[in-house]
Amino acid sequence: MKLIFEISGEGHGCDLLPALDVPPYQLSGFEKRGIALDLPQLSEVELSRHYTRLMKRTFGVNSGFYPLGSCTMKYNPRVNEEMAALSGFAEIHPLQPEHTVQGCLQVISEAEKALCEITGMDAVTMQPAAGSHGEFTGVMMIKAYHESRGDTKRTKIIVPDAAHGTNPASATMAGYTVVNIPSNAEGCVDLEKLREVAGEDTAGFMLTNPNTVGIFERNILEITKIIHDAGGLNYYDGANLNAIVGVTRPGDMGFDVIHLNLHKTFSTPHGGGGPGAGPVGCKEFLRDFMPDYEVIEEDGKYKFNRPEKSIGSVKAFYGNFLIVVRALTYIKTLGAEGIKNVSTHAVLNANYMRVKLAKFFDVAYDGICMHEFVLTLKNVKDQYGVSALDVAKTLLENGIHPPTMYFPLIVPEALMLEPTETESKETMDEVIAIFEKVYNLILSDPASLHEMPLTTPVRRLDEVAAARNPRITCCQ
Ligand SMILES: *Cc1c(COP(=O)(O)O)cnc(C)c1O
Repeated sequence: MKLIFEISGEGHGCDLLPALDVPPYQLSGFEKRGIALDLPQLSEVELSRHYTRLMKRTFGVNSGFYPLGSCTMKYNPRVNEEMAALSGFAEIHPLQPEHTVQGCLQVISEAEKALCEITGMDAVTMQPAAGSHGEFTGVMMIKAYHESRGDTKRTKIIVPDAAHGTNPASATMAGYTVVNIPSNAEGCVDLEKLREVAGEDTAGFMLTNPNTVGIFERNILEITKIIHDAGGLNYYDGANLNAIVGVTRPGDMGFDVIHLNLHKTFSTPHGGGGPGAGPVGCKEFLRDFMPDYEVIEEDGKYKFNRPEKSIGSVKAFYGNFLIVVRALTYIKTLGAEGIKNVSTHAVLNANYMRVKLAKFFDVAYDGICMHEFVLTLKNVKDQYGVSALDVAKTLLENGIHPPTMYFPLIVPEALMLEPTETESKETMDEVIAIFEKVYNLILSDPASLHEMPLTTPVRRLDEVAAARNPRITCCQ
């Protein structure tokens, strides 16, 4: 496929500026560019075709099944987009005075209240732009809390080995030493190990629940108590909230600070680098440390307020506001009953696929799962030389997006599936049939899987070279 610069032709440009009706201003020497700006010149139809071609080569939730575990690739309802496109939301300026953006502040305030109710927290900020950004914000708040009490000997954050890589990264960026604890044979937190490491130097504990192998931590209250008894705080990575939303709440499980991923659980678009939103919620005693600004209501008017001991801004202005509009639309269209149906159907779908796929592949931690589960292809690799990567590439050849691969790190040859609640039984049955087809191919012609995919726009990419030597400009 040609680059936009290769389609460009002198004089094709679609000039949308009106004719000049004021005297032209002559730029002085230093204001002028040294070389002409190299912009592609395309007619409107060439431009439209270029992006349509690109769109067709891209796989998204609107193209087909997308079971990327831990990412909650659910359908993003169009009504969310319609609300976010309303000019009163989309065309505001970040520096507009508060009294001219009351409706927008109301959206932030209502979304914050809804998320408080859903999570059992007392305050929520919409500032962070992603889940990882929320983790960093939350850990900074934990740090500010300990420091405000003069408790400076707490230098460690405990993170289970099943955690998403962003957890230890966020703790490290906030200046903490990360203490890793191994999971037990059921894929859960090992209570003995946790008791061993929790102590006077523990600032906090970061937990994903349900965890990254799709299991709701069996001893959740005991876990949060161990940390609290040691004087630490509990951080809840809410990336997997889709499994429990409307059913149970991190605030009732002993967590002090949490993040959510609006671009996962609350159906706002994701992928391609954002924009996303990773709201952070906290209990009352941490409210003063929240990032500025928070939206407060006074005499029926909304305004910004800087929490007293705020850790400061973590993102410009209100965060990614239009993502909040989409999430609030989603919450309001579903209502309390609808939100509960999200998690119960997500869990039902995951269990349906788990049981069906267990006929072909090993499930890493068998038994009832939450909204996702992990297959391990270790035996397939040992017996047939076919890796999880080979299977993922073969799924691509069959028109479906592969599951998450090689995560969590504690499962060898992992494929992690999360169908989400928006897939029908018919779609899941089609996908199960594709897995069966791939399984039969492993038995009959394992070598052929190393060559997959055959007919996609690009085949196997050199991912290491792409990461080490990225080509981010078109020309060199
Ligand atoms: C997605 C995810 C994150 C990070 O969230 P981003 O919004 O991608 O930064 C953190 N933890 C878990 C378990 C996740 O699945």
